[in-house]
Amino acid sequence: MSQSTVPSAAGTLYVVATPIGNLDDISARALRVLKEVALIAAEDTRHSVRLLQHFGIDTPLAACHDHNERDQGGRFLARLQEGADVALISDAGTPLISDPGFHLVRQVRQAGIRVVPVPGACALIAALSAAGLPSDRFIFEGFLPAKATARRSRLTEVLEEPRTLIFYEAPHRLLESIADMRDVFGGERHVVLGRELTKTFETIKGLPLGELHDWVAADANQQRGECVLLVSGWLAPEGDEAINAEALRVLDLLLAELPLKRAAALAAEITGVRKNLLYQAGLERKG
Ligand code: SAM
Repeated sequence: MSQSTVPSAAGTLYVVATPIGNLDDISARALRVLKEVALIAAEDTRHSVRLLQHFGIDTPLAACHDHNERDQGGRFLARLQEGADVALISDAGTPLISDPGFHLVRQVRQAGIRVVPVPGACALIAALSAAGLPSDRFIFEGFLPAKATARRSRLTEVLEEPRTLIFYEAPHRLLESIADMRDVFGGERHVVLGRELTKTFETIKGLPLGELHDWVAADANQQRGECVLLVSGWLAPEGDEAINAEALRVLDLLLAELPLKRAAALAAEITGVRKNLLYQAGLERKG
């Protein structure tokens, strides 16, 4: 339906960001919208009811999560078409950012109904704003795959990405993900861990990947809570020092089967990269 055919009485879908820990981060506008809409579509109504109670908001809630979003979209759409304003919230931060809402927003926009963002907290932006890594260009990779093989192959895909890389990670997988990043990107690549942002035990720690791994491994407290990992983009080595991703991929394959010296020699023959450089890279990769 085109915008011109939308009944003028149609409501608006507000996409409202909520805090990622510190409740003071909710905006005055978010509170006003959540009070005034007819219905709040929430990722987890039991979770959101506590947030709303805290702010004295008693707007009705309805579930809108990954499992029902496509089916229930029609229900929210019908309310909007009847003229009701609806707010979409997730458990924390900005809806749609590693959270449900994409299908609903797309459906509502396709119906020609207005969608209005009410911006606020977002863990990746909060982390980037304080990490001290280049922020003019960055890529958000969301959560890495849970299985090691898939995770390493995803990391290898972005090995030569020059922009700052941002990942979300679950606490119980933090250490293994950092280990894989160290093995794929190399132990010297700089990384920043943003943990429990805006909360009491907020930590923002920047170190080379190899050192961050050991630091997190040595302190169980760093393996708890919510975390964002920001990795420096690839800095292409110049001239003779260049080892491209393909050469590293070949080296990794050979290292899995052969001693370092033999793997480096064969990789040099296959890729044309100097044997000494590959030997050094192999040493670093073996940690
Ligand atoms: N929609 C949220 C946002 O705007 O950031 C993200 C939701 S996603 C399901 C949850 C993940 O976000 C966590 O596993 C963690 O990686 C990150 N995250 C959320 N809150 C955080 C916090 N306070 N500190 C660090 N990371 C956080």
